Amino acid sequence: MKESDIFVSGGGIAGLIAAAAFADLGLSVVIADPAPPPKSAEADGSDLRSTAYLKPACDLLESIGLWSDLAPVATPLETLRVIDCSGSPPAIRTERAFSSTDLGEPVFGWNLPNWLTRKLLAKRLAGLSGVDLRLGAAFQSILTRDREAIVGLSDGSRHRARLAVAADGRASPLREAVGIGVDTTRYGQKALAFVVSHEAPHNNVSTEIYLSGGAFTVVPLPDHQGKPTSAVVWMNDGPVAASLMALDEEAFSERATGRSAGVLGALKLVSPRRVWPVITQRAAHLTAQRTAIIAEASHVLPPIGAQGLNTSLHDVSALVALAREMPEALGAPEFLDRYCRAREADIKARASAVDLFNRVCKSDKAPVQALRSLGLKLVHDVRPVRAGVMRKGLGV
Ligand SMILES: Cc1cc2nc3c(=O)[nH]c(=O)nc-3n(C[C@H](O)[C@H](O)[C@H](O)COP(=O)(O)OP(=O)(O)OC[C@H]3O[C@@H](n4cnc5c(N)ncnc54)[C@H](O)[C@@H]3O)c2cc1C
Repeated sequence: MKESDIFVSGGGIAGLIAAAAFADLGLSVVIADPAPPPKSAEADGSDLRSTAYLKPACDLLESIGLWSDLAPVATPLETLRVIDCSGSPPAIRTERAFSSTDLGEPVFGWNLPNWLTRKLLAKRLAGLSGVDLRLGAAFQSILTRDREAIVGLSDGSRHRARLAVAADGRASPLREAVGIGVDTTRYGQKALAFVVSHEAPHNNVSTEIYLSGGAFTVVPLPDHQGKPTSAVVWMNDGPVAASLMALDEEAFSERATGRSAGVLGALKLVSPRRVWPVITQRAAHLTAQRTAIIAEASHVLPPIGAQGLNTSLHDVSALVALAREMPEALGAPEFLDRYCRAREADIKARASAVDLFNRVCKSDKAPVQALRSLGLKLVHDVRPVRAGVMRKGLGV
């Protein structure tokens, strides 16, 4: 049986970053994932979403030496434009821009395609001496005792660790194996994720366009075949999402252009489309004996305001700070209690705020729509409110 300080179940973005951060402290880490990263955006199973990494996430990546690998493929996000629409076809009612310079920052974040991030992170981890990266091996079993967790993988190997970390996604097998349930809220919505090229340049502006049914979010990417390009997340009621998925590429591009209120000119689909169920989900506990639950294994949020993975990286930062502060207690009850105390309130607050925000965004009720428009004006036009909301939401 192999011994290490930490076992991480799940080599998604959160698990890989957690493993690198622990290794950076000099801890030994075993990390397992049954699905190796795809080689290209077009490959089967490739995650076509992109993630806007806000400042605290970039600071974490920088501090553990990962940012230099990712920076060359990251697109800066300098302005967040929020547009409130009504009617069909959507007409713009209110439009406001939030600039990172309002907070004295050159950018409020960086956008990176998920499939590429995962590939680059896995490559970096494969070269780290403290990390045993087992791609193609799934977590299968766990037995915990006062001083250790013993983990079995699908490749037949067994591992003894002081701390097991569940980073194996929303259906987390490790979370289930230690008997932690979840509380799930469904909205009847689905999010379509895809990439478009467009006529007008994006100028490093991220745009969120609200309309009943859900948000349409356009986040800048590097040019594709010489054309300005962006990642899109389009939230819709389930049946509408299904009908959009059934359209051919041309008809889909036309519908997407209409839904974007034409703010970037004609949109052209340049990737496959993927559908994600929109839910809020929280694990009933963040820990079990010798086990910590992080990222989507712990919390899933609707994809608005770039809160999902950014919240996950706060989990990673909290665990790493504790491992630095109390290395002898890694995985012990006092360590796990401190992790709960560090993360519970923040996760609850973010989940509640994004849940409320999503309900307001998707509503087709006229008074709620009026409130949405008024709220946008208030948040933007009253300077101290704007600065406060930006600081909170963007983590700057
Ligand atoms: C459409 C959309 C857009 C989004 N945009 C943003 C954004 O802009 N900013 C942001 O912060 N967040 C965003 N999010 C959220 C973000 O994408 C997710 O939080 C993040 O990708 C989840 O990462 P994860 O590592 O927690 O989970 P996952 O990516 O699901 O990784 C879990 C890993 O566990 C592995 N696994 C499964 N079973 C096992 C097993 N038995 N053993 C070991 N491993 C296993 C899986 O193979 C997988 O690789 C978005 C979400 C959606 C749906």
